[in-house]
Amino acid sequence: MNPDVERLWELQTVLSQLGDREKQLTTKPESFAAVDREWQTANDEMSRLRQSIEQVSKEHRRVDGELSDHQELLKKYQGQLMLVKNQQQYAAAWKEIDSTRKQVKELEDAELKAMSDIESLQSDLNQRESASADLKSRWDEAHAAWQHSLGDLRAEVEKLKERATSIESKLPDRLKREFYQIFKQRQNVAVARVVNDSCSACRTRIRPALFQQLKRGELVRCEGCHRILYLERPQS
Ligand SMILES: [Zn+2]
Repeated sequence: MNPDVERLWELQTVLSQLGDREKQLTTKPESFAAVDREWQTANDEMSRLRQSIEQVSKEHRRVDGELSDHQELLKKYQGQLMLVKNQQQYAAAWKEIDSTRKQVKELEDAELKAMSDIESLQSDLNQRESASADLKSRWDEAHAAWQHSLGDLRAEVEKLKERATSIESKLPDRLKREFYQIFKQRQNVAVARVVNDSCSACRTRIRPALFQQLKRGELVRCEGCHRILYLERPQS
């Protein structure tokens, strides 16, 4: 057997386990994912409400400013009414007062509506916030349990990384580079086991001459997929 190929085979096994563990680390378990989705939905809804409140409040402030302006204007026109000198000026002043009063009334209505909108949005938000306290504690619990369960997994990942580094250090650089190149290009399989005289990755039959080389412990690449072939030790 070729010791380098043995190492490559082991390295590939370690890398495959490492890939699995790393995927597990980032995949939310369903026990957490379910409560997490619920929490996200609740949060989205609450931030939508906060945004609406912010928007209506802004509108309320604008209307309020405009209302003060119009109330001032109304006072001014009412003052002018005292100073009119004839019927014509009187009629004109009344016209201004009348139209300003209408505007004041509209603005007052808009202000009332904004206030009532804010109130109902706020009450909806309050309700959701108090309801979400329980959800949040369930989320915290599930999240902590998940993170806790990852402790062992993280330790395992560290061990596998160390193992991979240690195997790599025993490999010739050129072979290591070739391995990683094929590994990346061919779905994380750089070394293929020989099964029934064929490459287990691409099913290409291994010619007898190559098979002899394999048996002599030479490094042989599959003629079909160019992966490095691995002939397992006969079971004794
Ligand atoms: Zn092959």
